Parts: sequence; C-alpha cells; structure tokens
Amino acid sequence: MTTAGKAGSSTASSPVAAAALAERLGKLDPTSPRYATDAVELVLSHASQALASDVHFHPGQVGLEVRWRLDGVLHPVAILPAKLAPNVVARLKVLAELLSYRTDVPQEGRIRAAPGEVEMRISTFPTLHGERAVVRVFATPGSFLRLEDLGLPGEIREALSGLLDETSGAVVLSGPAGSGKTTTIYACLRELAARTKGERSLATIEDPIESAVPGVSQAQVNPTAGLTLETGLKSLLRQDPEVLAIGEIRDRATAELAFQAALTGHLTLTTFHAGSAGEVVGRLLDMGLEPYAIRSGLLAVLSLRLARRLCPICSVPAGAREQHLGLPVNQAHVPVGCDSCGRTGYQGRIILAELLLPRLGAIGPAILAKADVHEIERLAREAGMVTRWQRAYEAVESGATSPAEIRRVLGVSTQPA
Ligand SMILES: [Zn+2]
Repeated sequence: MTTAGKAGSSTASSPVAAAALAERLGKLDPTSPRYATDAVELVLSHASQALASDVHFHPGQVGLEVRWRLDGVLHPVAILPAKLAPNVVARLKVLAELLSYRTDVPQEGRIRAAPGEVEMRISTFPTLHGERAVVRVFATPGSFLRLEDLGLPGEIREALSGLLDETSGAVVLSGPAGSGKTTTIYACLRELAARTKGERSLATIEDPIESAVPGVSQAQVNPTAGLTLETGLKSLLRQDPEVLAIGEIRDRATAELAFQAALTGHLTLTTFHAGSAGEVVGRLLDMGLEPYAIRSGLLAVLSLRLARRLCPICSVPAGAREQHLGLPVNQAHVPVGCDSCGRTGYQGRIILAELLLPRLGAIGPAILAKADVHEIERLAREAGMVTRWQRAYEAVESGATSPAEIRRVLGVSTQPA
C-alpha cells in the first residue's frame, strides 16, 4: 500500500528514524534470550513510524541486513549479528503463525493487527545464507484517502469520479507494485460508500484485504480453503452485488469472469500489472480475452506511476543541458540534499497518471481488430489521452521532480512520436 500525493512526506524524517533505530538496536544485548523478540519489535515499530512500505531482512555473510523502502526506494538501516539471524526470522514467523521449524520452504502469512494498528504481511524464502524475510507494512487506517486526496490531475479525478456512477463496465488500474493502485481502489470504494449510503451493494474479493471500508462487504482469498479470486468471484456474483472490487487479475480465467461481471450489470474495479494504459489493453488481448468483451466491457484504464518530489528547499536549476538526460524539456531542476530532506534531495511523491477511455476516437475499432499496443497508444493520444511521459515532462519543467527521477521511474526510452 502506498500513500501518494500530499500524504507522502515520509522522506524528511527517514534518515533520523533509521539512525534512531540503528542506535537502539546497537544497545540490545546479543546474548540475551530476548534479543530476537526485542530486535523485531524495534524494527517493525520504527518501520511503521517512518511510513516504510516494506522491510527486508536479508541474510548475508556479514549478518542479517535490514533495509526498508521509503517513497519507493530501498534504504539500508542496520545489520544484525549473523549468529542471531535465524532467531530473528523465526520470531517474525512466530508473529505470523508460520511454521518456524520449516526453514526450507517459502512461507507467507500476516501479522494480525489490533484495530487501529498497522497491518503487516510477511513472506519468507530460503536462500544461500539462510532464510530471507520481507515484511509488507500497510498504511494505518487513518491515512487512507478519499478520491480528492490522491493528488491526481483534476481532469482525471473528475473522469474517475464520473465513472463511479456507471452501473456496468470495468475500470482497470495498472502500474507496478507500490504505484498507488490499491490506494486508489480503496479511495473509490470509500467514495462509493459515502455517495450511495447503502443504496448500492458493494463487495470485494481481495488478496489481501489491506483496509476495512465501512459499508463494503469485503472478502479475502484463501487458496488453502479453495477460495481463490476465480472461485470467490463466481460465488460473489450470486450475492447480488452491484459494485465489485477484485484483487489483481493474473490469469485468463479471472479476467474472463471479471469482464463477464462487467458486461452483466456490475461496475467492476480491478488492478492489472502492465507498464502503460495501452499495454493493459494489449495484454488482455494477448491473454485470449475476446476483443468484443474488452470493447464493450472496458470503461477506462488508469495507469499510475509515482515519482519522488524534489525537495523545494535545496533543489537547483540544472546547469547544463546534459542534465536533462535526453528528456525533451526546456528546463529542469536537480536534487542537492539538505537537512530538511535528509540529504536525499527529495520529499514526498507525485503521481504520473494516464487515463485511457476506450470509447473515444478510433480506439474501440482498433481493439476489435486486435491492434498492437503501439497502435492503441497512438490512437489514445490522438483521442486526447495525456500520457505518463507528457505528465513527466511537465513535472520536470515545473521543477516538481528531476530528470534522473523520471529515468528511474519510467526507464530510458522516451515517448514515441
Ligand atoms: Zn532538501
């Protein structure tokens, strides 16, 4: 789960939090039987305070490296003694009710949080130097946002808000992990719950539930009990839902069910992993979904990326054109680093969003003709879609972010002409 827009102000305090954590870990007695329990407690509580999205416990030759991800970037935090690494990972497994004596198989679980506390999901993996563990930290319930808080461009926010009044069709959110897809789906659900006041039946099937939304019937997949996204969705459709939010679509069977729901009088919100809005359409076609189902069922694709915002205090204008890193911009700012931003040069994040509306222009016929991704993107631009690249160029020219950050987030290519 990612907080975005104006909520993303964690960077400023992150090095302070990391230093405070390292200092407190250093004071623990490695010979104490409580070491692992105390170390895990310290790391997890500091991680949630620092608004880290993930914490990595990585066993190496020198010890158990602890790193956390802030605003999308991984930072080293501490190294715990190699000898105690198995105990630390075992403690995490106990918290998540995993089989602590099995160190040879990957395991997944969640650390159940009390109401108002931060929810965490853990996965372990056997590696050369021992078990590695990654803890996903979900935002606190209080930090969940409404549609207007997401930092989306005004016209996209309005379009999305209008789509929530539709009674059938699919709205697909795409982007890499940590790009704000789930945050946006939850914001839509909150908006729907507030707007319809119980007059529409709202249901979800999620993997996992990251936040409880009042007024929405939420369910979580449980593959060991046979409740997958696919089987859950089939059953859910018999529960008279009007709005459905479905966890990430990963296979054809789920995609077909989701579109079947969208075509039979359900507003369906879902996420799909793809690099761009056009790529969502292309990959759904590649998956074998019928072009007519996409043509008639797909209301919109919203593709999201998050880029770090330049620190307003220390960033400076780029001195040379080379610093534009090949981006077609007239001016740019670059990061420097100061006390306010913890020497990173960045504070908070901005959204680079693109909204593809298949009903516009010649996109629909192109879908029926199974056109390729480039053609669909070209037609979408022709129909007025502002691409992630255009948002990126604007963000660089206005000094909101740097060319280097755009390269980190969007890669080395540029927008095709
Ligand atoms: Zn700064």
